[in-house]
Amino acid sequence: MQKATVSIVKTPAGPDFEQIYAAVKQSLDLIGGIEDIVRPGHLVLINPSWVAPPVEREAGCITLPEVARAIADIVKAAGARPVIAESSAVGVDTEKVIQSSGYRDLLELGYEVVNLKATKATVDLPAENGIVFNQVECWELVKQADVIISVPKLKTHDQTEMTCAIKKLKGLLTDKAKKAMHQEGLFDGVIDLLSAVKPRLAVVDAVVCQEGVGPVFGKPVEMNLVLAGKDVVAVDAVCARLIGYDPEETLLTKNAAARGLGVMDAESINIIGEPLEGVTRRFLRAIEDDPVEVEGFELIHGEAACTGCRNTVMSALIDMRNADQLMYLPGVTVVTGKAPLPADASPDNIVTIGLCMKDNQTERHVKGCPPNNALVVKAIIGDRAEVKRMYAEESLDKTD
Ligand code: SF4
Repeated sequence: MQKATVSIVKTPAGPDFEQIYAAVKQSLDLIGGIEDIVRPGHLVLINPSWVAPPVEREAGCITLPEVARAIADIVKAAGARPVIAESSAVGVDTEKVIQSSGYRDLLELGYEVVNLKATKATVDLPAENGIVFNQVECWELVKQADVIISVPKLKTHDQTEMTCAIKKLKGLLTDKAKKAMHQEGLFDGVIDLLSAVKPRLAVVDAVVCQEGVGPVFGKPVEMNLVLAGKDVVAVDAVCARLIGYDPEETLLTKNAAARGLGVMDAESINIIGEPLEGVTRRFLRAIEDDPVEVEGFELIHGEAACTGCRNTVMSALIDMRNADQLMYLPGVTVVTGKAPLPADASPDNIVTIGLCMKDNQTERHVKGCPPNNALVVKAIIGDRAEVKRMYAEESLDKTD
């Protein structure tokens, strides 16, 4: 069987556009260029990560505009029409991300930069052999595109361990579909999305990454790398190893490989450019990043609890700490992962989390798989205070 190829190329520290262009070009040349997938006249959707502000270049939160620009130039040189397009997380104003992140400069230079949320037109795309969804609601431009290129920022993630080429595709969904994915099952739903939109190429911005509680508030890590490959699962598998995971631990990669959408085994992937061992750095996991401990608050993870709910609860607690709301924790017990409800706690004070607890849920149950962080905070706080959303501007009711 032919191996997948993933390239790894170094950039100088603090690279400018010319240096990033050179690295992106080299990463694509190493995998055989793009002419086999991008033809003259094609509409090519370049999909960077614009999850949310903070958008400072050094924060490692969103894909550097220079990376998207370099890909657009290479696509244009192939005779195709590049369109840089994305929709930010639910409740986040994508226009603000564009305006404050350097993508506005690309607009001024004449590049097509599109806020998908503003396009309004939507389309249902069939998800072949979907497990959670038979179809996914995306923006019309996704259907119009001849080729989709995933251009993620490499980060640890508070629900999925890592976000990279596969997870990033959620930005092609409408907000309604993003919410449904969290309610019905993220770990298979995102793979349904992958099978529906079929990206042909991934180019990873690993110049400044994030570790810890990504994808927005993690700690920046300078890696000064660009990676590329035409098997997006293989790209994610290499990125997982790059930051110290076994791809078996990053469930989206594992599920995508299990469904035959790409390969993740080291022996099935040919890495060219920089040797992986020379650039690997173990990233702090979200769960290891300064955990919250409060006397009188109990957290019970059952045997079925996966990293989705473990990290979601941890992230919700960090949101509460940031919002100065830890005083609402004593007396509350949070239960996940099919754990039995504790006999010594009043059911009124037990918050059950996620699909795994649906057969044993209390009145303070939070739906989802994994649920939204803000809804977990809401279930803990109740009516005692308002949930402060960390980066979304719309109200909780409107967005979740
Ligand atoms: S509901 Fe269950 S399967 Fe879903 S994220 Fe939570 S623990 Fe994992």
